[in-house]
Amino acid sequence: MKVDLHCHSYFSDGKQAPEFLVQRAIENKVSHLAITDHDCTAALDLIANHLTELTIINGVEISCQWNSMEIHIVGLLIDPASGDLRELLSSQQQQRKLRMQAMDEKLRSLGTDGLLSYFENLPCISYTRSHVADFLVAEKVCKNRQKAFKSHLGKRGKIYVGSNWCSLAEAIACIQSAGGIAVLAHPGRYPLSWRKLETLVDDFKDYGGEALEGSYSNIDPNSRKRLCELALAKSLYLSGGSDFHDRAAHWTDIGKFPALDQQALKNAIWLHPKWHSLNQKTL
Ligand code: AMP
Ligand code: MN
Ligand code: MN
Ligand code: MN
Repeated sequence: MKVDLHCHSYFSDGKQAPEFLVQRAIENKVSHLAITDHDCTAALDLIANHLTELTIINGVEISCQWNSMEIHIVGLLIDPASGDLRELLSSQQQQRKLRMQAMDEKLRSLGTDGLLSYFENLPCISYTRSHVADFLVAEKVCKNRQKAFKSHLGKRGKIYVGSNWCSLAEAIACIQSAGGIAVLAHPGRYPLSWRKLETLVDDFKDYGGEALEGSYSNIDPNSRKRLCELALAKSLYLSGGSDFHDRAAHWTDIGKFPALDQQALKNAIWLHPKWHSLNQKTL
């Protein structure tokens, strides 16, 4: 069993086609792969008919709001045809487009045109700040993506626009309504103390969340251990994934994130009863 339950295709802010992700997962001996695009499931239809030993787990990563913070919830084993899910994702995709219009206006007032036409030439369905970072680098407004986030796209950045995501409760309810398991994505990446993170995890669980990511790219061994203990203490399943976006060296390759702690395996997500549900496509 070697899973990668979090990665992105070019339908959100990844750089590769879904088929590339599947090939890469096979090359790296991954047994179960979830493509979890931001607020979008378009990749799932495209990889349905390959004939390989890899098992595809239907996934999505939903942006939501909790106490005015932006939190990401991964949905695994979802049915992409679910009406509730389609409705929520199309509303979030619309929000993303409106946000880019507002960012474009701010950017034009600073003297740079062309953000919206840049998007027209991309295959993405979910528009993200990650694309804007690439645009700012291409236009030589910023030296690199990190600087773009710092000076322009972060909360105190020059063209920052707040987002109007669904609530944490809505994201979880929608994933459940689509038959899936709600997973708190990369819990150590939010600007929260451990105490506040526990409050988030309690709320997440109260709303019906069932798992958290206990390993992902660039996580340190201490955080991995603490997240594993937190999941065990709260009776949550443990998931993990690379959050792969791109072949560029600074991104973690598919399947190459640190393994879950040994003691986490008794709560591993593949022990969840839904893991063997009908929504799983064996390719
Ligand atoms: P959005 O969903 O439009 O807010 O865009 C968020 C995406 O931008 C995330 O999924 C990351 O891929 C990327 N991102 C966010 N913060 C940073 C950062 N500081 N440096 C590089 N990429 C980032
Ligand atoms: Mn991303
Ligand atoms: Mn995320
Ligand atoms: Mn992600």
